[in-house]
Amino acid sequence: MCAKRATNLDTFMNGVIERNAGETEFHQAVREVAADVIPWIQDKPEYIEAQVLERMAEPDRIVSFRVCWEDDNHNIRVNRGYRIQNNNAIGPYKGGLRFHPSVTQSILKFLAFEQTFKNSLTGLPMGGGKGGADFNPKGKSNSEVMRFCQSFMTELYRHVGADTDVPAGDIGVGGREIGYMFGQYKRITNQFTGVLTGKGLEYGGSEMRPEATGYGASYFLEDMLHTRGDAIEGKKVVISGSGNVATFAAEKINHRGGTVITLSDSSGFVHDPDGIDIEKVAWIKELKTARRGRIKEYADHFPGAEFHEGKRPWHVPCDIAMPCATQNEISEDDARSLLSNGCTAVSEGANMPTDIAGINLFLDAKILFGPAKAANAGGVAMSGLEMSQNSERRSWGQEQLRELLRSTMDGIHKRAYEAGVEADGYCNYVRGANIAGFKKVADAMLAFGVV
Ligand code: NDP
Repeated sequence: MCAKRATNLDTFMNGVIERNAGETEFHQAVREVAADVIPWIQDKPEYIEAQVLERMAEPDRIVSFRVCWEDDNHNIRVNRGYRIQNNNAIGPYKGGLRFHPSVTQSILKFLAFEQTFKNSLTGLPMGGGKGGADFNPKGKSNSEVMRFCQSFMTELYRHVGADTDVPAGDIGVGGREIGYMFGQYKRITNQFTGVLTGKGLEYGGSEMRPEATGYGASYFLEDMLHTRGDAIEGKKVVISGSGNVATFAAEKINHRGGTVITLSDSSGFVHDPDGIDIEKVAWIKELKTARRGRIKEYADHFPGAEFHEGKRPWHVPCDIAMPCATQNEISEDDARSLLSNGCTAVSEGANMPTDIAGINLFLDAKILFGPAKAANAGGVAMSGLEMSQNSERRSWGQEQLRELLRSTMDGIHKRAYEAGVEADGYCNYVRGANIAGFKKVADAMLAFGVV
């Protein structure tokens, strides 16, 4: 790898692409960071000589395993489980588990790589990891999900631990799945430790964890707007997704006097010009968690709302967009449409929801653009605080945690702003987040020598 030193983006990326053939999402995530970090380290030979960026782009460890389980009809099913331990230079590996049929090693490697920078930006001592399986919890009974989670943890338990690697939830992994996995870990190891975050309040979970990512992305948006003397109040906001991140983002936008006009799922989006207010958001939470229903049902229930099958919401005119569903959900065309319809701020609740061409359009137009690794870091920050509470064997109060979430998001915004503000006053938060996130991990790696 010596010939592919990080002195030139194309040379560096050729090396990454060669070593990780076909892993397009991983290439995309690395390119996005390298495009900012490589110019920045040009006059910092210590990082170049120690090949720090090359080492960060190679996960510490990839674990892949078979997950066998029995469905309700006594058929044996086989899935593939993963844990990517990307980098633990500044703390135990930390990052969610995703259960979705689209899960591949490439997707989890991109997420683990991103997570390393995001966790660094929070200011908390957490390394980066990610995991999951190509299992689809949708349409499965609770018993099937339980048997899958138990089988998954029966292998994963040997690779994780409160001081080693602390997974959390992500797409398809909510409170139910975390409960089943924590129960199995406790049974196998005979230890009650903070090995997972996102736990129920009865068994070591933290207040504010469910709210943290969506609220945090709204706080980050608010901080960006404040730099222009603006606020969320009175703005029309288009949100995608209807899961954990989307619904809590919608709730906070309502708290701040904004009007949420769309939400979505993988079958399409609903547009409600009257606004998806707090009561309607509560109805959706119940629909998606307790009843495990589809967003389409919203349009049947609330007059005036329309369901657009198979479509994404980015063509609906708005002031602000918050992608909160999945990766690459805003293409270049979508970004162009948002801009031409007057959108002036984007805060990413999902991970890597905007593709690189879309990001470049937003940056060229100099709108406020909060990249995922900064804007959605509230979730992992609250997970870090859940770890602290577990270590202390105490639970902190809701108000204290709400304030900590707010101040943590302010800190993330400040770090990204200071590293990203340009001579004309425009803040390129993508560059800011990449450089601020890189520096802390890189300095820790330099301190360890060649390991
Ligand atoms: P959930 O499983 O709770 O919700 C995911 C939502 O996105 C659902 O509405 C789902 O629709 C939709 N969705 C999933 N895949 C697709 C797709 N391919 N196309 C269109 N819609 C899709 O997940 P979360 O809310 O927890 O996560 C959403 C995003 O936020 C992810 O990118 C995740 O990595 C990121 N994130 C989550 C954090 C957390 O704390 N939960 C922390 C930081 C980032 P459907 O029901 O049809 O599948």
